[in-house]
Amino acid sequence: MAPAVVSRMLHRLSQSTSQGDKENNENREQRDQEKQQLADWEANKEPLEISEITKDPQKKVVGHSSKYLRKEDFDLVKTLGTGTFARVWLAKLANRKASDNNKVFALKILRKTDVIRLKQVEHVRNERDVLAAVAGHPFITTMVASFQDSDTLYMVLEYCPGGEVFSYLRRARRFNEPTSQFYAAEIVLILEFLHEREGVAYRDLKPENILIDAEGHLKLVDFGFAKKIESRETYTLCGTPEYLAPEVIRNTGHGTAVDWWAFGILIYEFLVGQPPFWDQNPMKIYEQIVEGKVRYPSAMSQDARNIIAGLCEVDVAKRLGNVQGGASTVKSQPWFKSIDWDALYHRKMQGPIVPHLKSADDTRNFDDYDAEPVHRDQYTKRAWVNTDMWYQEMQAKYEGAFAGF
Ligand code: AMP
Repeated sequence: MAPAVVSRMLHRLSQSTSQGDKENNENREQRDQEKQQLADWEANKEPLEISEITKDPQKKVVGHSSKYLRKEDFDLVKTLGTGTFARVWLAKLANRKASDNNKVFALKILRKTDVIRLKQVEHVRNERDVLAAVAGHPFITTMVASFQDSDTLYMVLEYCPGGEVFSYLRRARRFNEPTSQFYAAEIVLILEFLHEREGVAYRDLKPENILIDAEGHLKLVDFGFAKKIESRETYTLCGTPEYLAPEVIRNTGHGTAVDWWAFGILIYEFLVGQPPFWDQNPMKIYEQIVEGKVRYPSAMSQDARNIIAGLCEVDVAKRLGNVQGGASTVKSQPWFKSIDWDALYHRKMQGPIVPHLKSADDTRNFDDYDAEPVHRDQYTKRAWVNTDMWYQEMQAKYEGAFAGF
């Protein structure tokens, strides 16, 4: 080869390498900038005003889909919980400055193969999109950002160190009226926002999905069933037997009113220690729900009975929260007369249970979990070729579904 040609090739090669370096540098800068943003957000965790939350998630301080963040940007410290196809880790920023040592996140990790195999693609998409849309609400776990790689989906969430309300309720057997009113009121603000600002039905309200933050305020987690209700009604059966609304059991189509029903069940469980409809056999629970006869303990106040009866109303058209006026009809119930709704939204009211924590990364309120299984299917082309055609087809079909995650 003529020396001139060789030198031209070398020149081109060095140009493309330096272009590659430049790109890498830009990516690295973006990654570092995003990591800094995560650390800055964690330091204050300021909730947003409603008008800020409803902005485009790509333009908010929280909730965007990141092109730059990677798994390597996090150190996984300990498993906080597992779902059927998700594992949630306590995570810290990798290669952090000493001053970022106490900056912690809950990193929810979902493997694409599991999501597809368990037919959860739609639910997972809904979950990310709803969490992005609501990021910044004071009583919903903030998704700070989401990202993906070829095999896996990631959601960077704020860490709620207090654990589940469920555990506090079981320990205390039941909550007194002021505690129940406080928690119930924060949930009203969540449902009001989801239904009236976002058109979203949450569809899985129960004590297990409500966590407590470091200051004793509630944080709703697990938006796997949350759904934007485009038309008024949807038909998927989902939720937990004790908390299902009669219209879900009858499969006559349901909307956001299912959350007000479940909210009535939740208030009852807070005050009594167990839900109003219960049996070993789920079919019997369904029968009781459809019949809709709630029995109140004699000690329960009349105001509490009234709000529960209004919410656990079988006739959707008459159900409190779903009647004209929406959430405001719930807020104006006498049972809530001690609540200053504006102060509550701005977290100025003191939480009734403030968890004991010795540091930001304290996990005493979470159980211990087994290590992850060693064998892992890959969602890469090479591995898929060796499995069956179904997987290849699924990959082609679903890769688009994860776009923008
Ligand atoms: P999920 O799949 O979202 O229901 O999460 C599974 C479990 O992980 C939950 O039941 C919680 O115990 C835990 N978890 C989820 N999100 C968080 C969070 N933001 N902070 C602390 N723990 C969490």
